[in-house]
Amino acid sequence: MSHGLSLQDDVRYLKGVGPRRAKMFAALGVRTVQDLLDLFPFRIDDFSRIRKLRHLEPEEKVTVAGRVFSVAVIPSMRGRALRVGVSDGTGTCYLVWYNMTYLSKQFYRGQQIVASGKVEWRRNSWEMAHPRWEATGELSSGDLIVPIYHTTAGLSSATISRIVRQALSIYAHLIDECIPGELVRRQGLLSQRQAYVNIHCPPSAEIWEKARKTLAFREVLFLQLALLLMKRQNQEAKPTKPYSRFDLPEAFVRSLPFRLTDAQVRTIDEIRNDLASGRTMNRLLQGDVGSGKTVAAVWSLLAAVANGYQGALLVPTEVLARQHFQTVEEFTRGMARVGFLSGSQGTREKRLTLQELAGGSIDILVGTHAMLEPDVRWAKLGLVVTDEQHRFGVRQRLRLSYDSDAPHMLVMSATPIPRSLAITLFGDLDLSVIDELPQGRKPVRTRVLEEGSRHLAYERVRKELAAGRQAYVVCPLIREGKSGRRSAQEVFDELRTGYLRGFSIGLAHGDMPRDKLAETMQGFVDGKIQVLVATTVIEVGVDVKNATCMVVEGAESFGLATLHQLRGRAGRGDRQSYCFMISSREAEGESAERLKALETLHDGFSVAELDLRQRGPGQFFGLKQHGAGEINIQDLGVSEDILYAARQEAKNLVDSLEGGVQPPFELSSLLSKVNARFGNLLMHARSR
Ligand code: ADP
Ligand code: MG
Repeated sequence: MSHGLSLQDDVRYLKGVGPRRAKMFAALGVRTVQDLLDLFPFRIDDFSRIRKLRHLEPEEKVTVAGRVFSVAVIPSMRGRALRVGVSDGTGTCYLVWYNMTYLSKQFYRGQQIVASGKVEWRRNSWEMAHPRWEATGELSSGDLIVPIYHTTAGLSSATISRIVRQALSIYAHLIDECIPGELVRRQGLLSQRQAYVNIHCPPSAEIWEKARKTLAFREVLFLQLALLLMKRQNQEAKPTKPYSRFDLPEAFVRSLPFRLTDAQVRTIDEIRNDLASGRTMNRLLQGDVGSGKTVAAVWSLLAAVANGYQGALLVPTEVLARQHFQTVEEFTRGMARVGFLSGSQGTREKRLTLQELAGGSIDILVGTHAMLEPDVRWAKLGLVVTDEQHRFGVRQRLRLSYDSDAPHMLVMSATPIPRSLAITLFGDLDLSVIDELPQGRKPVRTRVLEEGSRHLAYERVRKELAAGRQAYVVCPLIREGKSGRRSAQEVFDELRTGYLRGFSIGLAHGDMPRDKLAETMQGFVDGKIQVLVATTVIEVGVDVKNATCMVVEGAESFGLATLHQLRGRAGRGDRQSYCFMISSREAEGESAERLKALETLHDGFSVAELDLRQRGPGQFFGLKQHGAGEINIQDLGVSEDILYAARQEAKNLVDSLEGGVQPPFELSSLLSKVNARFGNLLMHARSR
C-alpha cells in the first residue's frame, strides 16, 4: 500500500534532494513531487542510431560513438577551438567547440562517448562542430535516449533526470487517470501513468512523442474546458441594462482629424451591438500594430460614460499606461474626466485618485494592474478594456469579472493570431478583427543580413540618428549565455565604443529594477536617449513616432510573429522606416530563409499564418502566460491537430453536461482537476 505517500509530498524528502537542492528546484517552480513530475523534458537526444565513422557523408546529421584519442586546444579564426578526436575502429572524427575551451576538462583519453551533430570535411578530416554528446560510460545500453530539461543554476539536466526517475519509481502508481478511458482510446493516447513514465524515461523516440502528445492533449483539454465553461457562464449571466445613448462616442468620432477605416467602422458596430444587447460583452479585438485599436477602445469607454458608467483601460506596463493616459485624455477632452493609477504613484496622489474613483467623479481610469488591488472601489464600473491582453492571461481576466459585477470586457491584442487558433485560445470571447491599416501608412522596409554585413545596418542607424531620428537595437538575451548568441549587455558595450560612439544610448531589459527600466524607457520616449538597446521588453507598447529604425540581433531566435510585432515599433510615424534582421553565424541556412519572408510580408495575419505552419502553435501559448504553478505547454510541442481534437472533445464533454444532470463519475474527476488548475473559477461557474 502507498502508506502515507502523496504526490503533494515535498521534494526535499526525495533521495538526493535535501534543503539546498530543494531551493534550486523552487527556482524552477517545483515544490511538490507532482510539480517535479510536471517538469517535462523539452527535447530528447536520441543516441540510439549510431553510424560507423567509415560511412560518414558530408553535411549529414548523424550520431557517432567511439573512444577519445586526443584532446587539444588549437588557434582558430575566431579565438581558440577545442578539438576532441574520436575513433570507433572504422575511422576517426573530430568534435570541435569554438571559444568554449573550458569544456576540455570534461574529456580524457580513452573515454567512451556518443555525439550527435552535422559532419563536415575540413582540415583534411571529419569534423562535427558543437555536437550534443554524452559520456556513455555512465549510460547503460538502454539509456541511449536522453531527456533534456530546462536547467537552473546548480541543477543540470542530468541531475533533474536522475531525481525525476527516482521519484517515478516511488510515486508512479499514485498518478491519477483523469481522462475518461473512452476518450483515451478514441484519440490513441497513453494512460496518464504511462505518459509520465515514458516522457521522462523514453525507451524510444516514438514512445516519447506519444507521451508528449498525451500530456499536451490533456493540457489543451483542461484549457478548453475552462474556456468553454466560462463562455457558458457568460451566456447565462444575468442581463445588464442595454446601453441606449451613443452621443458622446459619436461626437468623439466626428472630432477626429481622420476618417475611420472600414475595419474600424465594422468593429465599432460590433461593439455597439454588444453594448445595446442587454448581455455582457466579452470581445477580443485583434489588429496589427498601428491599425488604430485605441480609437475603438476610446469609443467603448465613452459609450460607458454616456450611459452613466465608469470605464477602465488596463495596461500591462507603467510607461505604456502613461502614454495611454495622455492619448485618452487628449481624445476625450471636454467629454470625460480621466484618471491615472499605477503602482509607483505616491500615496497621496493615489489616495486622491481612489477617492475620486469611488465618488464617481473620475469617468475613465487608465492604469496598470494596480487597479486590480482590493482597495480599489468603483462608483459604477461598466466596461473594462485591457490592452495587450496576452500579458494578463485567463486568471486575471476572471479576477476582474468577479470582483466587479460582470462589466463589459473588451480585450485588445496586437499579436495577430490566425483566426482558427484565436478561437481555440480565446474560446470564450467573440472576435473582432481590424485587418486594415490607415491609409498612407508605409510598410517598414525590412532586410535580412548575415552577421558579416552588420555594418550596413548600423550605417543606416547612424544616418537616421544624424537626421534627428531614434533607433532600437533588440537582442535575444540579457547577458551572455553559453549558446553563443549575442546579449543586450554585450551589444550595448560594443556599440557605445564602436559603431555608435558619441550618440546617447540606453540599455533596457527585464532584470533591471523597475524604476530604472521605467526611467530609461521614459528617456527614450522624451528623446533624451537616441538609441535603445533592449530585450523584447519593448515588444509591448512603447509608441515613439520618432523611432524610424530597428536592428534585431540574433534574429533567428525569434518567431516570425514576434519579429513582426517588434518591427512595428519602428514605423509608427509617417516617415519611411527600416528594420534589419541580423542572423548569426551559427544559424543554419533554413532559418535565414525563414526570416526572408518578412522582407515581403507586411501584414501581421499573413505572418502569423506562416509562423503557425512553420513552427506549430506551441509558441502562441507563450503569449498567454498562465501564471505560476502551471505547466509550460510550449515544452510539449502542441500540434494543430491536437489543438482541434482537444477542443472538439472538450465541446462534447461540456455539451454532455447540459440539463442539470449530475455528471458521471469519470467526468466529475476530470472537472475537479480542471478546477484545481484554474482556481475556483469553475466552482463559480457551476454554482450559478
Ligand atoms: P494600435 O492598434 O497599435 O493600438 P493606435 O490606435 O495606437 O494603433 O493607432 C496608431 C496611430 O494611428 C495613432 O496615432 C492613431 O491616432 C492613428 N490612427 C488611428 N486610426 C486612424 C485612421 N483611421 N486614419 C489615420 N490615422 C489613424
Ligand atoms: Mg495600441
